[in-house]
Amino acid sequence: MTEEREIADEPRLIEQVTLPTVGLVCQRHAIFVNTGETLPAEGEAALALCGVRVTLGPAPEEMLPGVPAEVVDCADCQGIIWDEPDPRPAHARPRLYIRRVGTVPVHIVDVEGLTATTMTSLCRTVFHLGEALEQLAPGAGAPCTGCLLASLSRPALLAP
Ligand SMILES: [Zn+2]
Ligand SMILES: [Zn+2]
Repeated sequence: MTEEREIADEPRLIEQVTLPTVGLVCQRHAIFVNTGETLPAEGEAALALCGVRVTLGPAPEEMLPGVPAEVVDCADCQGIIWDEPDPRPAHARPRLYIRRVGTVPVHIVDVEGLTATTMTSLCRTVFHLGEALEQLAPGAGAPCTGCLLASLSRPALLAP
């Protein structure tokens, strides 16, 4: 049996109905799969947003012979979906990775370095609004050594 593992090409929410641990009402949980991650296959375990471990598979059709299964949305999963549409961890500090078009080093700009018209990188390079800049994904390109050292030595959540 060969199965192609499917890779998510965009962030996805998968629904999985689980048998109740108590009572007769099934719970519909949501599982988040980020871009590039493998979609869980049937029979595999995955972690729902609410932290419950679920096994992927068809939803139970009836709980008792002749009685269709009743399903409710898991309130915890729903709460996470609606309250935090951005699945990034809350402690992730926004940083910009900027370089001038045509140059190599990628500078790191912390939120503290942002003003309405300028961006000051950790190595104190100032970029002005209107310059030809490009923003890169974290880890892309060759980081500026000054910025890199500064980002390592600077505790992430303390002001200078
Ligand atoms: Zn849930
Ligand atoms: Zn720099």
